[in-house]
Amino acid sequence: MKHSARKLVSRRRWIAEHWDEATATIDGAQAEHLARVLRAEPGMEADVVAGGRVFHAQVAAVTQNEVRFNLTAELAADPALPVTLVLAVYKFDRMEWAIEKATELGVSAIAPVVARRTEKHLAQAAEKRAARWRRIAHEAAQQARRSDVPLIHDPVALAARVSAASDATRIVLAEQERTTTLRHAIDEAIVAANDEMPALEIAVGPEGGWAPQEEALFDANGWRAASLGPRILRAETAAIAALAVIASFLE
Ligand code: SAH
Repeated sequence: MKHSARKLVSRRRWIAEHWDEATATIDGAQAEHLARVLRAEPGMEADVVAGGRVFHAQVAAVTQNEVRFNLTAELAADPALPVTLVLAVYKFDRMEWAIEKATELGVSAIAPVVARRTEKHLAQAAEKRAARWRRIAHEAAQQARRSDVPLIHDPVALAARVSAASDATRIVLAEQERTTTLRHAIDEAIVAANDEMPALEIAVGPEGGWAPQEEALFDANGWRAASLGPRILRAETAAIAALAVIASFLE
């Protein structure tokens, strides 16, 4: 069978680890998958993301652990949503699901934070887990055909993130909030920014919700509390719903 005209799984974008003006390479598990499972061969076409830019490319060389592409033409990149999701560390399986879905929905960055109601053993394991979170984001970005991979910050204590300087409009999702909806908070932020969508930071609490001291801390640092409606959502649902609301303003 001749493969030379075949496109290498047209629905995927391969995110390169290394690149220069004319070439890009994929290594590690991605390269192995390309070489062994998808049987990449020189001449096959693929879309490759290199340094946040998207290219049509052709496979130039394949080894067990590296696939090299020639970049043939640049495509228009689609920008991420201007949102950093500040996500309390909670049950890893659910949290990782939130990271995957937030990536699909276009989040720019995710900042894991240790909250008062983050379980102790999860708080202790969070730092090591960040490498896995980055892999999940990388995979999901590729699967969603994104032209970039969201930045996953190292986990920090909530207070450090809440009180850090920021140019973003900062919104904390809280099920106790009854008057301000997320939609309303974003509307106001857009008006304040002369009809431009401002950069946003959206905080989602752990399974047990924010502690009263944390709500006070958000408030003292200028974060606006917002509601996603009268029902109590799981944290991952809240994150997904919030990103969908934000996307509806832009897309
Ligand atoms: N304390 C709650 C559960 C918290 S839900 C309980 O009674 O069990 C986890 C997080 O999801 C919250 O901290 C909040 O950030 C977000 N969240 C859930 N439902 C929400 C809603 N209706 N509006 C805004 N945020 C919500």
